[in-house]
Amino acid sequence: MTSIIQFEHTLSCIDNINVNSIWQMHYIFHFLMINIEKILIVILHDDLYWSILMATEISDILDNVLSIFKKKYEHIRNVYIELVSTPQDNCAGKCVMDLVGDFKYIGKMRSKDVRVDYIQIHNDPTYKIDDLIMTLLHEISHAITPYIERKVKNDWIIMDHSHKFYENFLLILDIAYQNKIITKKYDLRSLKNYDGKQAHNAD
Ligand SMILES: [Zn+2]
Repeated sequence: MTSIIQFEHTLSCIDNINVNSIWQMHYIFHFLMINIEKILIVILHDDLYWSILMATEISDILDNVLSIFKKKYEHIRNVYIELVSTPQDNCAGKCVMDLVGDFKYIGKMRSKDVRVDYIQIHNDPTYKIDDLIMTLLHEISHAITPYIERKVKNDWIIMDHSHKFYENFLLILDIAYQNKIITKKYDLRSLKNYDGKQAHNAD
C-alpha cells in the first residue's frame, strides 16, 4: 500500500464523522501532520479515524467550543473541561457546580443561582467527536441555567431538565449552529427527542 492511498483512506474517514467547519479541519490536518506514523499504523489495522483522536486534540476542540460561550456568558469564564476515561457514575457528561445565595420562590417552584467549577466529559474511545461536542453543549446549558426545585406534596424535587433548561439548551444550540460547530438546526421537539435518547447517559 502506498502512502498516497493510505492518506485518501484517512480523508474519507473524516467525511464520515461530519467534521465540516474550517477550524475543526485545521485541528484535524494539524493532527494528521504530526501523527502520520500513528495514523499509518492504525490504517494498516483497519481502524476508524476518530478512534485515534488523541486526548489532547479532543481537549483542544472542546476548549475551543467552550471559549465561544465564555465570550457570551461571563459567569462561566473560569469553567474548565475535565476529560475522563472512566467516570465514577458512568455519565457521558457532568456539570459540577455549587449553589449560591438564597432560594427565590415562584409559585410551586424555587430556584438558586449556580457557580460552576468544571464540566466533566467522558472521553470514551467509542464516542465520535460530534457526540462529545453535543455532550459539552448539553453541560454548558446546565451551566447557564439556575438550579430549580418543584414542590410535590411536602417534598422539594430537583428539576435538572426543566423547561428553562431546554430553553437555554436551544439557545446554546442556536449559537453553536451559527458558529458552524453543529450542522443541524433544532427546535424544542427535535431537541427533546434527541436529548431523551441521550439523557440516560448525560447528567
Ligand atoms: Zn442534563
